[in-house]
Amino acid sequence: MLQARQLLELIDHLIQAEHIYLMGKKFKKSVLWLRRDLRLQDNMAAAKASKESDSVQVVFCFDQNIISKLKKEDKRITFIHGALEELNNEINKLGGELVILYGDPKTEIINFFSEGKFDALYFNEDYEPYALRRDNHIKKSLGQKAFSFTDQVIFHPATVRKKDGTPYKVFTPFKNAWLEVLETDRTVLDIKKISSSHWLGKSENFKFSEKNWFKTLEFQKQDLPIATGRKAALEILKSFKKRVRTYEETRNFLEVNSTSGLSPYIRHGLVGIREIIKGTMSDNQFLSSTFLSELIWREFYQMILFSFPQVEKASFKPQYDKINWHNGKKELEAWKTGMTGFPIVDAAMRCLNETGLMPNRLRMVTASFLCKTLLVDWRKGERYFAEKLLDFDLASNSGGWQWSSSSGCDSQPYFRIFNPTAQSERYDPEGKFIKKWCPELAPLSKKDVHEPYKVGPLILESMGVTYPEPVVSYKSNRIKALNMYKEAVK
Ligand code: FAD
Repeated sequence: MLQARQLLELIDHLIQAEHIYLMGKKFKKSVLWLRRDLRLQDNMAAAKASKESDSVQVVFCFDQNIISKLKKEDKRITFIHGALEELNNEINKLGGELVILYGDPKTEIINFFSEGKFDALYFNEDYEPYALRRDNHIKKSLGQKAFSFTDQVIFHPATVRKKDGTPYKVFTPFKNAWLEVLETDRTVLDIKKISSSHWLGKSENFKFSEKNWFKTLEFQKQDLPIATGRKAALEILKSFKKRVRTYEETRNFLEVNSTSGLSPYIRHGLVGIREIIKGTMSDNQFLSSTFLSELIWREFYQMILFSFPQVEKASFKPQYDKINWHNGKKELEAWKTGMTGFPIVDAAMRCLNETGLMPNRLRMVTASFLCKTLLVDWRKGERYFAEKLLDFDLASNSGGWQWSSSSGCDSQPYFRIFNPTAQSERYDPEGKFIKKWCPELAPLSKKDVHEPYKVGPLILESMGVTYPEPVVSYKSNRIKALNMYKEAVK
């Protein structure tokens, strides 16, 4: 048994050791500003802040510049709300509290930082043009006190370059170079852990009452099609690990669970990119994995947006901006509302409208359909997806739209036009996806469900099926599209 004096000496010793340890840290009080990385684990900025600071205050700022443009029923606010609530509980367990700010981060973050007399600001990089402008402003204001890190991608978008230092414009050589760089240092895949730090609390600004939250932001709470929060993200990752081997064969089929379903969680950073790679791939299957390839597509598009920020609004290939789009209002409206008379397109759009989700195969089909069958400018579709997608990401969305409309780098050639019926028969052979989202087509056979207009109006009527006629003729608009494209790129 220790004597009281020995005990006091031991406590004193421990306090001193802790003091020396703390003395070794660079900063007394730091701010960790979370944005599209709503987690503490496998988070570069969180790991660094906790390692280098005696105490850390975690902050999230609802960026008024972004959210003022959203509709009041935007599902993403509810998704973020749930994720932050869970994160706050985790921070509470560490002794802290998440501070929520609301306004323009250029003033909110800087005011919070200076009023709280903090010594350092930590955050992870975001490569969207608006975010880069915002972050550069904040870095300029705080000078040596602001630290940013590469986190949402394995490599900073300027890392994987051609030998002459210019950015890649084609995916496969980019992917090969990406893998080569990785081979020089696989530790970049190590999961980043937070070290012990004192986590600061007391949020005066924005309490976690749901009523207060939605009222202040002027948003309405929505039903979500998927669970939010990091726990849900980790569960999905765990269940996908069992399916990753069959991913390559199944990913295009419109069955539930044929892909990972991780994109909304990746977008909001509820799971780290290193955690995903480590969590789904063993070393020997890793380099050849189709799943890894998809994650590298994501990094490719981040690199493209970073290197060619004009792709936010303009075609990567400038001559494609000369296309004389028909831009029919009726066609665009039918596409948005899932009333084109092409069942696979309508099912996909209704699914998007209802859930904020859409499988990759159908994003390609509906995007191609809008540009090359309805002859509408890809930007109108891109903006609609941006409004609706729970996983909306400017780089991937612009990349996907420009790939589909043939205006992007390494996109499909313009004369490749998806035939919606063929796509439907191939990837939804039983018509299950169609019937789920267009229930009025349920009485049709698995053959007729792909092209109801061929059944004829009288028979459809006798079956009780009310469904729109095709809004355009696929065949004749295919020819119009080819001419339209040929004219622009000649
Ligand atoms: P999985 O197949 O399980 O893939 C795993 C992860 O890899 C995805 O979560 C995603 O992060 C990444 N990924 C997969 N395919 C692609 C791809 N083609 N391009 C870039 N990253 C990819 N993805 C978004 O995250 N946000 C978007 O706004 C977005 N818009 C798109 C628009 C169009 C027109 C197209 C054709 C594709 C778009 N994508 C977008 C890419 C892709 O459709 C989604 O990432 C995918 O459907 C998400 O489902 P998942 O997580 O089950 O994907």
